[in-house]
Amino acid sequence: MGSVRRPARKLEGLKPYDPKYLPADAMMSANENPQDVSDELRRKIEAAVRRVPLNRYPDPLANDLRDLIAEANGLDRDQVLVGNGGDELLFDTALAWGGPGRTFLNMPPTFSVYETNARLTDTDVIDIPRLADEDFAIDEEAVLQAVSGPDSQVDFTIIASPNNPTGLRAPTEFLQALLQATDALVVVDEAYFEFSRMTMRPYLEANENLVILRTFSKAFSLAGVRVGYILGHPDVIREYMKVRQPYSVDAVSQAIARVIFENRAEFETGIEAIISERERMASTLRSLPGVHPYPSHSNWVLFSVPQAKEVWQRLYEVGILVRDFSAAPGLEGTLRVTVGTPEQNDAFLHALRRIVR
Ligand SMILES: *Cc1c(COP(=O)(O)O)cnc(C)c1O
Repeated sequence: MGSVRRPARKLEGLKPYDPKYLPADAMMSANENPQDVSDELRRKIEAAVRRVPLNRYPDPLANDLRDLIAEANGLDRDQVLVGNGGDELLFDTALAWGGPGRTFLNMPPTFSVYETNARLTDTDVIDIPRLADEDFAIDEEAVLQAVSGPDSQVDFTIIASPNNPTGLRAPTEFLQALLQATDALVVVDEAYFEFSRMTMRPYLEANENLVILRTFSKAFSLAGVRVGYILGHPDVIREYMKVRQPYSVDAVSQAIARVIFENRAEFETGIEAIISERERMASTLRSLPGVHPYPSHSNWVLFSVPQAKEVWQRLYEVGILVRDFSAAPGLEGTLRVTVGTPEQNDAFLHALRRIVR
């Protein structure tokens, strides 16, 4: 016959994820750490990788790495699970807690992967939009109401804190109230917690329904390697184990992540520099005509600017790639700039000043 049947109905209207990654002098679009790992760390990584047997399957659970992460967080191995980037664990969340007849509570605008995963797993989605005129803060009252009571349909929710791409972190008191108000699984996505200095780790013991997601991709300069992890109750971790791909974290990635994690103190100076550059960028952006930066607890600044799409293009023409959200629902007219090196940040601010004048 030569032809092919249609794929699953749920794929209709879905678009493949497109990070809109284009080559540029200043890559300021993907919230990566602008500094690659140091030469010294790279040598340690090379030595570790050289010892990895390539003909053998990796440890499916990455137990050596799990132990390091567990110890650093004052937890046991069975409270940690490592994945192929945080993204795999987000998909596993939808596989394990979503599905036909089940419901995910989303708070858009937020990381688009959450909603895509819900659709791919035939999970119903309830949206409680963030408050656009309050810097995209969570509509706390509406969320608490949606999850409360025995009639609540919500099976799980994911809250990015700080929220990508808007910037605010979720208030601890709210997250605590949410965890107490529901038995739905609450995943707090701490992909950027190193920049907000806030973690829900202290609330793990008292809340079986709390899962914390973290990644090596942002503060730890390891986006190219694909390692993330969750912290949670052992029973919850066990459910995740049932849906995960057995060998998703390859042996080379495990070896690299171990070296990075053991040497994570080295990244502290860079993290502090990013936080102070973020504040400098926000205050300069505030002084530009027509530009409105949103407050950020992370390593980027979202800002609105007239003719955002055209501004994006003109920045790109001078070698600066930022992320274009100008046509994204709820984010119309905005761009997101990742904090880069001081030189990149200067180049960006200088170019934007010339464009908006
Ligand atoms: C980057 C990011 C992640 C995880 O990314 P990985 O590279 O897959 O670890 C998770 N959540 C949010 C909100 C992110 O921005």
